[in-house]
Amino acid sequence: PCDIFSFLINLHTFLKLCFSVSVGIILGIVVREYASLSHLHKQYFGFPGEILMRMLKLIILPLIISSMITGVAALDSEVSGKIGLRAVIYYFSTTIIAVILGIILVMTIKPGVSQEAEHIDRTGTTPNVTTVDTLLDLLRNMFPENLVQACFQQYKTKRKELEPMKVSVNTTTIPPLTTAIMAAVEVRNITKDYKIIGSYSDGINVLGLIVFCVAFGLVIGKMGAKGRILLEFFDALNEATMKLVQIIMCYMPVGILFLIAAKIIEVEDWEIFRKMGLYMVTVLSGLAIHATICLPLIFFIIVRKNPFTFTLGMAQALVTALMISSSSATLPVTFRCAEENNRIDKRITRFVLPVGATINMDGTALYEAVAAIFIAQLNDFNLDVGQIVTISITATVASIGAAGVPNAGLVTMVIVLTAVGLPASDVTLIVAVDWLLDRFRTMINVLGDAYGAGIVQKLSKRELERMDLISDVDVANPF
Ligand code: ASP
Repeated sequence: PCDIFSFLINLHTFLKLCFSVSVGIILGIVVREYASLSHLHKQYFGFPGEILMRMLKLIILPLIISSMITGVAALDSEVSGKIGLRAVIYYFSTTIIAVILGIILVMTIKPGVSQEAEHIDRTGTTPNVTTVDTLLDLLRNMFPENLVQACFQQYKTKRKELEPMKVSVNTTTIPPLTTAIMAAVEVRNITKDYKIIGSYSDGINVLGLIVFCVAFGLVIGKMGAKGRILLEFFDALNEATMKLVQIIMCYMPVGILFLIAAKIIEVEDWEIFRKMGLYMVTVLSGLAIHATICLPLIFFIIVRKNPFTFTLGMAQALVTALMISSSSATLPVTFRCAEENNRIDKRITRFVLPVGATINMDGTALYEAVAAIFIAQLNDFNLDVGQIVTISITATVASIGAAGVPNAGLVTMVIVLTAVGLPASDVTLIVAVDWLLDRFRTMINVLGDAYGAGIVQKLSKRELERMDLISDVDVANPF
């Protein structure tokens, strides 16, 4: 009866969000049809949505710091090591499965082998970005030089000095984004300042903070009575942060409604979707298969619970991810859904979710593999087995390196393309539809993290029980 009750509550939340999304879509279409808004008025219209984004981003920093430190400190180093290892094995295996699925689909559907190529003409240089660079970049970000700076860093791009590239697929090409991609490449080439490709989320070096918090949590956990003061402080901070998240969630339906409505008004060219149709179908069907077959199957085999009830419990986080295209900014909602609806132990979520939001991106990995092969097909570029293996490896690396922010995967695409000798500038071919695909892949990224938490909890049941850490949770029936 308890399960049915929570199922109905989750269903109710889900339907409420669907209602809010539908009203947003209708409102967007109506305003688009009947009112011609100026750029300024469009901005005003999107204001309630912008506030939601700002509130979610605001909470990321205290949330990551307090949850990671308390999460790690509460476990002894042996247990946290085991949980960490299980999480990493899960992240890797599901990411690889996603990449393989993407490759199989794009090689079967062949969205780039057609007349589509005629529509697309491009110019640009081929910058040199190597996989080694990306890996070094990732390691660099893990060890920030300055902790305060790691929390408030601004991207150092050379946007103004750079020429945007000419792309003719484009009518909806987003110039600042194109420039940002080129800025990322230029920054790497000219100043060796790797600020965009890396795990920066809205100015926060999330990966660097995570590494620091894990180390700090481990030390506090071992300090005994003295460490307890700090632990209590971070625990209280965590509780307060989650209370704030609860308040933000009340505002969510309104924010989401305006986010989607404003986006519908803003998009200038829907025609591009027809041109890029098959490519989009390939990416979206890959994401759908991963979300409804691969992940649920793995979950069911390991956890032996209904994966779809679990997915429904995550609905609020999934809709948020769909609306805001950012795993990091969705993190507060992911936490709440995982802990309250799916009743995953806090010590697991605090550990597995922030790390997952930064490095576990199944949707992004799948997308990168499909997009790279699609671009190869457009270029009549025959890929041999070695190159396909290279794409799988670099797509995995690129997804780990992508920050949990909108369009990050598009930026790290450069790595995959250059690894097989395709022009990095061809990223611009897929920019026009990225705002839409980004939403769906972010949703799958978040779902992957949530399933990961459920699976790691199940696998770590014995350790957690032994440590008497899950006394407040019904272990036998966590979901
Ligand atoms: N927007 C995605 C995320 O936050 C990253 C990407 O661009 O693929 O998970």
